[in-house]
Amino acid sequence: MLIYSTMNIPKKLRQLNFRVKKRLGQNFLQEEKVLYEILSQAKVTPEDVILEIGAGLGILTEPLADAAGLVVALELDPSLYTYLTERFNNRENLRILHQDILKYDMRDLPEKGVKVIANLPYYISTPILMHLLQSIRRFPLILIMVQKEVAERIAAEPGTKKYGSLSIAVQYYTEAAVVCRVPKTAFYPVPEVDSAILRLTLREAPPVKVSDPERFFRLVQAAFAQRRKTVRNSLLGAGSFSPEQLDAAFAASGILPRRRAETLSIEEFAKLSRYLF
Ligand code: SAM
Repeated sequence: MLIYSTMNIPKKLRQLNFRVKKRLGQNFLQEEKVLYEILSQAKVTPEDVILEIGAGLGILTEPLADAAGLVVALELDPSLYTYLTERFNNRENLRILHQDILKYDMRDLPEKGVKVIANLPYYISTPILMHLLQSIRRFPLILIMVQKEVAERIAAEPGTKKYGSLSIAVQYYTEAAVVCRVPKTAFYPVPEVDSAILRLTLREAPPVKVSDPERFFRLVQAAFAQRRKTVRNSLLGAGSFSPEQLDAAFAASGILPRRRAETLSIEEFAKLSRYLF
């Protein structure tokens, strides 16, 4: 393996006369061990196409481009985009795009086999994830650094406080695992929160059968909208079902209506949705 080092970020930023933009979630990775952890998890091969979101100063971009067949690296900040294009101007297998990920059309990528590897801008990590889920068949692996709290919510199991509609939306399509926790000091400037590396591996098929996933996710969201209430009362409060419809669906699915949403597995939500719709 080639040796990579994270740069002296404060020095580099001074050289570039660059003022960090907090509003763009700019916290650059400065801990080498973490870089190697990401690379060892990503297992990039020359057959891989990689989508990197928020390339920053190119700390991840360089090793990814050394190992992959093609890297598409997006960066919204114009100064960082200019820096990256100058730094990597002779790389044939690297496309750097001055682009907002939330406006990026995933159809520009191959239909299959694209690995997403990124240290995400945290202010939009959930919208980015939702955007990726819309095109999930393209992405066999999503390996992302996110806020620790978000990673734990996504990978949470039923019966835990962190389990919620985000866990179900992501786990419906992928197997989610927190690879490791990363202390805030691994970044410059040091953010206010700790981070974690999250690995999402595409499932061949969803773990449950639902006729209309969008409607299913709306039901799950309504069930979690008031976490302190019972699942029946949350669904009643959402206004789409009558008390009679709900009582019949709970009775038929064998799920106790006094349970709280966080105790229901994805299979139980699917069962309930089959009787409700
Ligand atoms: N990859 C670099 C690293 O690991 O050091 C930078 C990571 S930093 C947490 C997030 C990067 O995403 C920043 O460079 C920021 O400018 C960029 N960014 C912020 N919003 C973005 C958006 N909507 N689309 C693309 N890039 C964005």
